[in-house]
Amino acid sequence: MTVRAVVAAGTDIGHVREGNEDSFLAEEPLFAVADGMGGHRGGEVASSLALETIERMFALGEGELVEQVREANRAVFERSTLDRAVAGMGTTLTAALLEGDHIRLAHVGDSRAYLVRDGRLRLLTEDHTLVHRMVLEGELTEAEAEVHPHRSILTRALGVDPDVEVDEITLEVRAGDRLLLCSDGLTGMLPEPRVEEILGAEVEPQRAVDRLIREANDAGGVDNITAIVIALTETDTDPSEGDTSATTATPGDPGPPSVTTGTVSRGGRAERISGSAEQEPPRPTPRPLASSRRPKPPWPKLATWVGVTLGILVLAFVGLRLYLDSQWFVGVSDGRVAVYRGIPAQVAGFDLNHVVVETSIPADAATSFALYRDLPDGITADDREEAQQIVEQIRRDTAIGQQDAGAGGGA
Ligand code: MN
Repeated sequence: MTVRAVVAAGTDIGHVREGNEDSFLAEEPLFAVADGMGGHRGGEVASSLALETIERMFALGEGELVEQVREANRAVFERSTLDRAVAGMGTTLTAALLEGDHIRLAHVGDSRAYLVRDGRLRLLTEDHTLVHRMVLEGELTEAEAEVHPHRSILTRALGVDPDVEVDEITLEVRAGDRLLLCSDGLTGMLPEPRVEEILGAEVEPQRAVDRLIREANDAGGVDNITAIVIALTETDTDPSEGDTSATTATPGDPGPPSVTTGTVSRGGRAERISGSAEQEPPRPTPRPLASSRRPKPPWPKLATWVGVTLGILVLAFVGLRLYLDSQWFVGVSDGRVAVYRGIPAQVAGFDLNHVVVETSIPADAATSFALYRDLPDGITADDREEAQQIVEQIRRDTAIGQQDAGAGGGA
């Protein structure tokens, strides 16, 4: 059996970002979502270049989907290497190719593909993110991963290295199935049960896309949002018409069974992408560069660098430790004056100090003196002895203050 697709796609900048770095491709039978990163311009270039590459190769019949994605990786990597304005850019890419009654997926990054069958939403792809890896290793729960501040850190993306590992998934589909491709701006805003509900309520692809994007925006819209909904239908044949070719549309037909739209909202990137084939003739790919890159044994080299980096980190840590151990200050701990070892600062949430002695002197009593107003920020001392002297001075001053207050009250 062959199925046909009715597809709708949309992208939106969201409420927070200044540009839309997402791109999509919806040209039956090839569909893809890419979420660019690496600065405003870099992100846009990376995601659109990746999609232009697979679109062009597909049109020319060059390679399988996975090879097209690998080539897209090389194209983004080379542009990133050659053009300083977009150095360091990268992109996710989740692509789907409809082949008869099969869907072939190629995937890198944290955009996602879902299958909707019998009203149930099923995630087909695996996020290439740090938090997902931590979930697999049992260090985080799914729920913790969903709200983790670093949940968007990718472990794999296109354009970062000359080669990339691409996940491949093939699945059999049937009429009635729907496929959702989306960027993390959708799934980061809407929990999966809500996405499932929306797709259950909105059967028509364009309405589903519009509503998914609208609700992701209503939920905050902190990232660019892109969604493609592909509804698979029976091949458009009427049994009464006999066995004339199923693929030939008769003149009386209302239109082709497939509707490809690239509309929606403020993004307007759809037109740019689907029209890009004419605007930008296929560039001669800079082959010599690719072959001049030395054949690398990546792992030994990586291991060396990891070793060197770890060594530097250890030295830095030991140096910091020694330095901090030689520093002293007087500050406040639990509302009381205290002697600290280290410096009154934090790095990445870690205190660079610890309490050595907590006195019984209330901090309020000390800070009521202009002299000790800076106490909560820490009064630094040359050594422990000096810190102790500062404490004794505070003790005397606050004791006098209390006596004065007591005397005043009693008079
Ligand atoms: Mn994103």
